[in-house]
Amino acid sequence: MAGNKYTDLDSESDRGSKWKNKYLSSLEELEVKEKQWGDSEKNLRALITHLTNAADTSSLKLNEQLSVLRDAINKGIAANKLKKAIDEVADSILGLEAIREKKKRESSNHIVELIGKIKPAGKIEAKLSKLSGKIAKTSTNREISPFLNDLAKLLVHGLSLAEEKKDKGFLSSLLSKKEKDDKEPEIKIEQSEVEGKIESGLNLDNAVKSLISLLEKMALPDDLQVEVNLIQRKLSQPVDEKIFLSSLEQTVGITADVLGRVKKEKAEIEDFLKQLTGRLNELDKDIRETARIRELTHLHGKEMTDVMKTEMSTIENGINNINNLDELKTSIQSRVINLRNHVDNFLIKENEKDKQAASIIEKLKKQVKVMEDEAEELKEQIEKERQQTLRDVLTEIPNRLAYDERLNLELANFRRKQDPFTLVVWDIDLFKKVNDTYGHAAGDQVLKLVASILNKNIRETDFIARYGGEEFVSILPDTDIKGAQLITDKLRETIASSKFHFRDEAVNVTVSSGFAEVKNNEDSETLFIRADKALYKAKENGRNNCQAAL
Ligand code: GH3
Ligand code: MG
Ligand code: MG
Repeated sequence: MAGNKYTDLDSESDRGSKWKNKYLSSLEELEVKEKQWGDSEKNLRALITHLTNAADTSSLKLNEQLSVLRDAINKGIAANKLKKAIDEVADSILGLEAIREKKKRESSNHIVELIGKIKPAGKIEAKLSKLSGKIAKTSTNREISPFLNDLAKLLVHGLSLAEEKKDKGFLSSLLSKKEKDDKEPEIKIEQSEVEGKIESGLNLDNAVKSLISLLEKMALPDDLQVEVNLIQRKLSQPVDEKIFLSSLEQTVGITADVLGRVKKEKAEIEDFLKQLTGRLNELDKDIRETARIRELTHLHGKEMTDVMKTEMSTIENGINNINNLDELKTSIQSRVINLRNHVDNFLIKENEKDKQAASIIEKLKKQVKVMEDEAEELKEQIEKERQQTLRDVLTEIPNRLAYDERLNLELANFRRKQDPFTLVVWDIDLFKKVNDTYGHAAGDQVLKLVASILNKNIRETDFIARYGGEEFVSILPDTDIKGAQLITDKLRETIASSKFHFRDEAVNVTVSSGFAEVKNNEDSETLFIRADKALYKAKENGRNNCQAAL
């Protein structure tokens, strides 16, 4: 993608305008394809982000409710209030269940959509559409799983078929617009052999760029990122059809792997929810028991009052029928003993009940604590995973996904509060030469160095990310175009004078940048395009240069 950005296309026109038109239309196809790959990948990323976000906010809410529950129990609030708190937690769980259901549907929809975008010819197409139909009907992850394996096998099979026969059909239909297929063969017959070869080379070139672009945009866990880096490295050398096909096959494998992990993560959350539901049921049972004990206590109290009333009225009635003081004394004494026995009995029962209630409450407290800890752990784990998906593995600075999030945030602030900011697009100069002269390891070191200089020399409120390849982006809040010119020039000079050495050899590293201050009603894409165009100008100006956008 970036490789051809500054190349002069005019030399192609020497081959005649017919050829140039073909080249341009194949560029157009590439753009469409790039978008399609991008969309597939975006869908995947959205799936992961949605899932983690949903679980995150829900567990936060759950956490709050659990602490309400704990307070209620600690303060000894009435059982009906406790019940209400429990009901709220149960509702939360139901909510999570609903989200989970929705995600299940989404995951099969995403896959069906993905299949729709791959348009291979011949036998495979029929099989693919059959498979797509089956996946569309699934509603649980377990059901999708075997179909995913079939999908991966089918794609790999298609690729190997194409490779065996040296048949471009599958490959080119995988990478170009299908609608054009009807016309293509006739043109091919008229073409000379030489032209045929050039065309094959160009299509492969476009396909490779498309794949590179997809790989750059993927935000993956560290171990998969390492695999992607290896593929990227392979693709940065001259690529023949065989290497391309094996890279594509590996990419399909990685995509399937990501899906597998998403499924696993969902299964883990499912499992956690099941456990939580089980605990809540136990809690509910215990609370009912507490309520029953209280009712019993109430009953005993009433029973005792009744007994006392009876005894008192017996004493009153007795007084009338008693003839002397001694009799009266004896009668009252025996009644009082009766009364004391009743009270003792009541107190013993009460004491037992109190003990039972206390032990149940103790148990409840422990259970709530365990639930709180687990919810907290889950929240931390989700946050950690989220942070990983936002970081670039090589340079350890934020990646493109993080950039997208931050830019949208800044744009929202700008729309609401008119807080201005400037976007800078950086590109290392003649980086290909560094790779070619000193090797990829040196190239990687240069990337780390540039990232670290850019990262260390910005304000705390500024933001820097690796956009992809040897391109970086900065967001500078509260900075106008004049301020940005000063800042970018200073950074550019720091990098140019960094005296980078690789294995004792001095490597000359410079960067160029284009920057644009956000305008009213501007979206992220047009802002980026303006900054990118300014970068183009900086390159034209001889590199090691920073240019403001118009
Ligand atoms: P220009 O000044 O016009 O930007 O020239 P350039 O050579 O920097 O531009 P070009 O886009 O042609 O080359 C970019 C190179 O960056 C090609 C690719 O091999 C290399 N590259 C991309 N990602 C990585 C990476 O992760 N590690 C290494 N070592 N090289 C990478
Ligand atoms: Mg570049
Ligand atoms: Mg460059």
